[in-house]
Amino acid sequence: MNLPTEVKIGAMRYSIELVPKLHEHRSLYGEVNYSQQTIIIADDISNQRQVNALFHELTHAILFETGDFDLCDDEEFVRRFSNLLTQIFADNEWLTKGVLCDGPTINQRTNRSYTETCEEGPDILPE
Ligand SMILES: [Zn+2]
Repeated sequence: MNLPTEVKIGAMRYSIELVPKLHEHRSLYGEVNYSQQTIIIADDISNQRQVNALFHELTHAILFETGDFDLCDDEEFVRRFSNLLTQIFADNEWLTKGVLCDGPTINQRTNRSYTETCEEGPDILPE
């Protein structure tokens, strides 16, 4: 599985990087740094956990970029929201492919173009 290397949130571009032994050394699945606009994800956790950690850190970053710092720091809210967000993307492939690939819009796409367009795109969801 390949995680994307960059995500744009609002006007900001955040880099995404897998970090070796992040969980083993710091007991972290992932971490976001708002000032450096970086998201790091542990490479020593399962692929599904990496995806969930990415959605978790994305949720923090989205809330930070909206300026809602109280909600951004509300770890319980971020966990609940990002867990459901992960499930929605994992269980609705059409939504994921449409969002993550530079493919045709949902109204233009056929099953054939859908597959062809997404082959080269980022694949961040578990099989
Ligand atoms: Zn968090």
